[in-house]
Amino acid sequence: MRCPFCSADEKDKVIETRVSKDGREIRRRRECEACTRRFTTYERIEESMPMVIKGDGRREPFDRNKIVHGVHAACAKRKVSQDQIRTLAEEVEREVGELGVSEIASREIGERVLPKLKALDQVAYVRFASIYRDFRDLDGFAKELDALRGEDNNAERTDEHPAVAAGE
Ligand SMILES: [Zn+2]
Repeated sequence: MRCPFCSADEKDKVIETRVSKDGREIRRRRECEACTRRFTTYERIEESMPMVIKGDGRREPFDRNKIVHGVHAACAKRKVSQDQIRTLAEEVEREVGELGVSEIASREIGERVLPKLKALDQVAYVRFASIYRDFRDLDGFAKELDALRGEDNNAERTDEHPAVAAGE
């Protein structure tokens, strides 16, 4: 560690090490052995998951189980197994972790769930989309629904309206 005062390199001793409450930052109080002045370094743990910013602006630690629960609810009475749901959640967790960001909007996590859920079950996908897309993005939601209807026309016809799908 280069001393910020005398620029001596690799000559300091750690006096104190503290881990932040969320376990993601390590603070080290160091003393330069060349000039004996003290300085503090902060290390962020990059491989840990980002904090999730909720719709109301509050932050909470990333929790894969929330994805599992949300997807599970969307998959009620659908032929989607617990294993498939768990795998989906793990994939999203890995993607989010690999972004290397310190914060992510919960909505962005929902957006990552959508294409994976769409591949598993279209009804569950529409249900989940109706939960995660907020009202400011009704246009986007409508586009998704239109796209879904278009696909349905090419395959078998399923539910026309998400309310119908959700009330099943
Ligand atoms: Zn120094």
